[in-house]
Amino acid sequence: MATKASARPITQDQVPAWDIETDVVVVGYSIAGVCAALGASEVTDRVVALERGGGSEGTCGGILYLGGGTPMQQAMGHHDTADAMYTFLLAALGPGVDEDKLRRYCDGSVEHFRWLFESGVPLISGPDREGTPLATPDPDGFVQVGAQEYAGGGLVWTGGEQAHPFNQLTAPVPRGHMPRDPDGTEDLFEGAVLKCLLAAAERAGVRTVFNTGVERLVVDDAGRVVGVAARSFGTAVFVRAARGVIITTGGFIYNDEMLGEHCTPAVHGAGKLGHGGQDGLGIQMAQMLGADAIHMDAVDATLVSTPHISFIKGILVNSRGQRFINEDTYYGRLGTETVLRQHSECYLLVDDKIFLESSWLRPAWASDSLQDLEQQIGLPDGALQQTVDYYNRGAEVGEDPLFHKGVRWLQPLSPPYAVLDLRHRSFPIQAFTMGGLRTDVGGHVLDVEGRPIDGLFAAGRASAGLAVHGYCSGISLGDGSFFGRMAGQTAARNPSR
Ligand SMILES: Cc1cc2nc3c(=O)[nH]c(=O)nc-3n(C[C@H](O)[C@H](O)[C@H](O)COP(=O)(O)OP(=O)(O)OC[C@H]3O[C@@H](n4cnc5c(N)ncnc54)[C@H](O)[C@@H]3O)c2cc1C
Repeated sequence: MATKASARPITQDQVPAWDIETDVVVVGYSIAGVCAALGASEVTDRVVALERGGGSEGTCGGILYLGGGTPMQQAMGHHDTADAMYTFLLAALGPGVDEDKLRRYCDGSVEHFRWLFESGVPLISGPDREGTPLATPDPDGFVQVGAQEYAGGGLVWTGGEQAHPFNQLTAPVPRGHMPRDPDGTEDLFEGAVLKCLLAAAERAGVRTVFNTGVERLVVDDAGRVVGVAARSFGTAVFVRAARGVIITTGGFIYNDEMLGEHCTPAVHGAGKLGHGGQDGLGIQMAQMLGADAIHMDAVDATLVSTPHISFIKGILVNSRGQRFINEDTYYGRLGTETVLRQHSECYLLVDDKIFLESSWLRPAWASDSLQDLEQQIGLPDGALQQTVDYYNRGAEVGEDPLFHKGVRWLQPLSPPYAVLDLRHRSFPIQAFTMGGLRTDVGGHVLDVEGRPIDGLFAAGRASAGLAVHGYCSGISLGDGSFFGRMAGQTAARNPSR
């Protein structure tokens, strides 16, 4: 495991000889790394990417959170603006969002869509799986695709835009963009975005060196970062970067020491969303040069398998037998709320009608009586009965006064009942970290006084990105690619030494 001490920089005079000399070195080659390499290669043709894994080990899914009126949104008849996107994300990703970065992201989102498309990511609209033709969106009808609500034509709702409180702030618009296969009929998910961009980087002439883990940064007499010390199959490799080093090594969910230092114990037992490479070493290497790291306590915890969409008609209760969230919100928000604020104590109560809608449900308890369920589960006497009674009174008149669940999901619950055990130990949760190096909009790593560290840049989960204490699916590939590309451009324009 990475430790701070092993991440100490070395000085240039400790380098016996440079094995590779280039302008820009990218450390880690996943979504942020490949976009940093592509960004840098827009300015210089001397770009080297070092990746510890044997290929790109990046754990990238397929959804990109984009908006502001992308061609795909327009093709499907969804009106969006940069301002609406900004308003939603500021509320959904916070508190603590970097407003300058968010503004830049929203204003640049349509252009970024085009860049991704021109780089080979097939962001194309087409008839959806249900055969809904192009440009006839059906805002109310939806189909569940995996964990997401499908909006049609390659768009998915991925942040709870339609749910309270966000639907009060701005008109809901789907912004989860999924690449599609070239005939436009099938969504491409696992790794599709990364795969296309890796091919683009190869075409752009980015030099990649795999099985090479960077262990330390190299600095000159003035403290400027001028290269990296790496190891490849046990052999030391020194790479000089005349213009800059970009850290895109991901977060630190696999570093138990850092998790213990920064994050709530609630995530320690959770599953980890990643592949093992996210050990925080990149962050520590920069910290050893005085880099600031922020929002290090921020984590996203998500339900691994999302219940069938019909579960929204049931109610989620905590260990006090009380509801704590509107069940129609984004399932990532639901998972985080459950893990961080309900101590992973969560039960889903459904009735017979809901149960019959889904073959997914595997109840842990069932009964005709709520009192009996309270005893079976160990909930306080009367609590569940009060919760259901209050919920039913609202549902009968199409209201959810406590949490404002959408009216289409409201139906009174009646016996017989079934309860799913969504507690952490029974229902897997996966977590990943969102804090990291403090960077400015251009990707410079900043020290604790807010000054750029000469020659050092970062993007992706190794840096503190757009998402802080809230998340939307697609924002990692979104901000990793957007700010990765910017960091690449900035590093490549840094004066050469
Ligand atoms: C199953 C799954 C599905 C997901 N789906 C989505 C989705 O649809 N949309 C979305 O936005 N996000 C999704 N995510 C999250 C997203 O994939 C990650 O947040 C994103 O990949 C982070 O990108 P990154 O480039 O910052 O770092 P990472 O993808 O974590 O990559 C870091 C890279 O750096 C390398 N590395 C680490 N240390 C070193 C070192 N010292 N030297 C050299 N190399 C090093 C690692 O091997 C790795 O390849 C998903 C994640 C998982 C696990």
